[in-house]
Amino acid sequence: MTNRRGLLIILSSPSGAGKSTLARRLMAWDPGLKFSVSATTRAPRPGEEHGREYFFMKEEEFKTQVAEGQMLEHAHVFGNFYGSPAGPVRDTINNGQDVLFDVDWQGEIQIRNSDLGKHALSIFILPPSIVELRRRLETRAQDSEDVIAKRMLKSWDEISHWGYYDYVLVNDDLDETEAKLKTIVEAERMRRIQQPELQDHVRQLQMQFEEMS
Ligand code: ADP
Ligand code: 5GP
Repeated sequence: MTNRRGLLIILSSPSGAGKSTLARRLMAWDPGLKFSVSATTRAPRPGEEHGREYFFMKEEEFKTQVAEGQMLEHAHVFGNFYGSPAGPVRDTINNGQDVLFDVDWQGEIQIRNSDLGKHALSIFILPPSIVELRRRLETRAQDSEDVIAKRMLKSWDEISHWGYYDYVLVNDDLDETEAKLKTIVEAERMRRIQQPELQDHVRQLQMQFEEMS
């Protein structure tokens, strides 16, 4: 029995709490897991590649895709637009593979309220402290002081939505958080709704039962 339905795994956190690091570890653990590459109107950071981290696009193109219903969800974050293309998500979960989303709380709500919401699994990553959150943003060294200050201001807004999520993890020790994340994913894959082939299996059991009696 391998024909399971894929999950939409949503990871959110205030910037710097460790979401991308955890997402990378999850993907290394299960290479069958597909990352949902979002579209964004923000400029690429050094080392980011079009089609790998994001589909970088002009605002006009982004808005056209939203108008055409091509985005499963979309939001305005840090002055830029971000959105998750719907097509690849549908194909992937129907193929029995999970999709991993790195989206903010606005994306979580929209995905949960979409027609695919029943397959959503959302996990919020909290930092152990605000001092540590700032330290992580600074050691990442990808953003200017100005951008870091903006992200810190936005952090509380993101944290304040922790209550919308199915699971919440405090990312203190990275290895421990990773282990908990894997446990959650493994358990959620066994939700009844994720295993449509069970219908057939139970029918087979019923036939065997009837043959015996
Ligand atoms: P996010 O994607 O949430 O913005 P990142 O995954 O980029 O955050 O992590 C920000 C920085 O913090 C990175 O330098 C990362 O290596 C580091 N980091 C992530 N998790 C931990 C942890 N549990 N302990 C210490 N450092 C961490
Ligand atoms: P960054 O610019 O640091 O890559 O991302 C900034 C924020 O935008 C993060 O909180 C990230 O989770 C969020 N984000 C990235 N892609 C999407 C998306 O497709 N939809 C939504 N709603 N948020 C996104």
